[in-house]
Amino acid sequence: MLDEAAIDRLSEETTEKYRRHVNPGIAGILNFSGFSVPEERAQGCYIWDASGRKFLDCVGGYGAFSLGHLNPKVVDAVRKQLEKEALKSHFFMSTVLADTCELMASVLPEGIEYSFICNSGTEAVEGALKCARIHTRRPEFIGATNGFHGKSFGSLSVSGREIYKKDFEPLLQETKLVPFGDADALADAISDRSAAVILEVVQGEAGVNIAPSDYFGRVREICDANGSLLILDEVRTGFGRTGKMFASEHYGVVPDIVTMAKALGGGVMPVGAFSSTQAVWESMFGGNPYLHSTTFGGNPLACSAIIAAINTTIEENLVQRSEILGEKLLSGLQAVRSKYPWLIKNVRGKGLLAGIEFAEEDIAALVIAGCGRRDLLAAYSLNNPKVVRVEPPLIIPEDELDRAIKIIAESVEETGAMIEAITSEAECE
Ligand code: PMP
Repeated sequence: MLDEAAIDRLSEETTEKYRRHVNPGIAGILNFSGFSVPEERAQGCYIWDASGRKFLDCVGGYGAFSLGHLNPKVVDAVRKQLEKEALKSHFFMSTVLADTCELMASVLPEGIEYSFICNSGTEAVEGALKCARIHTRRPEFIGATNGFHGKSFGSLSVSGREIYKKDFEPLLQETKLVPFGDADALADAISDRSAAVILEVVQGEAGVNIAPSDYFGRVREICDANGSLLILDEVRTGFGRTGKMFASEHYGVVPDIVTMAKALGGGVMPVGAFSSTQAVWESMFGGNPYLHSTTFGGNPLACSAIIAAINTTIEENLVQRSEILGEKLLSGLQAVRSKYPWLIKNVRGKGLLAGIEFAEEDIAALVIAGCGRRDLLAAYSLNNPKVVRVEPPLIIPEDELDRAIKIIAESVEETGAMIEAITSEAECE
């Protein structure tokens, strides 16, 4: 264990390297919010920093750590694969890739039979957009306001927050955004130029937005009537996060293309995937099997992690666990809201993906900092900073979930007291 002086030195040196070689802004934000000590290791639902301080992780890698950190079954599978072969030769067929895509077909919505394994969520979205373009031969894509699909050019084009887009224009030329959850607006926007509609099932970075129960059924009908494909982005929601294997199951809707990443790699390997029907695959790969390819995607290490991740999710009933613990989390957060309605405007969630919408961005930031001081990590929402997200690993013990709710309640209370003190001081002046 490092002594205090060594920890200070490590923090300063790492901050300086971030300033000079990584990203000065991130160093500034982390130092300002009290996270100047770098992370050291992680296991299960916990992360330890270099000083040995232990945090309960309710950010969960924005959905990547559904199985917790260093899940032993996934680590074991990857380690065994590493003894045989790490990356693809690109010459032979790969049994582990074949097994992965077969297993994925067995859990994906019906009719989604083929998968392409890549390395990240945004790559999965790029592949999905290309599939829709070639299958329909149409130019346009429709996304949702505040939606988030990644930060490469295509993904950014269909994402819905201007600040991340405007400096990179021109993006993909024919794109439209419609309000999430409003099927009439989609019906008005779609045309015979629309290749696909791309939506998250639960909008994550927008602050855990949940559509009306008939929304996706209507979206499906609108796409079908128009000859457009429906791409559902399950990068964050896939593999049990919302209390179903795929969030589309909440709505009884089968998309044409599904994108995945995050939990797919079991929290050990960085992977993404897009999957679709035989008809779409025929358009994409039927003519030229190399029309879309990747050097690292679908490598044996990644595939061994995917197989172990899916099997562990099924064997340990984590989908059901997410549903049950999710109800507990939501009712716990709703109780906090009813105590502090002037601070918390709304609480919403599905499974172990919950969002607390505060009256203002600053309140959300203060609550995140308060949780951090109490050794709990909760997430900031990129496209709606008023919302604090709670996305613990699906394996979180029930008493630790209770503790997380208690810490959030304390942080909200503390923030409320701080605001009251500042307001009454201002009134006295
Ligand atoms: N789609 C969704 C719904 C996401 O939440 C994210 C990442 N937050 C992405 C795509 C992009 O994934 P990645 O960061 O792996 O590129």
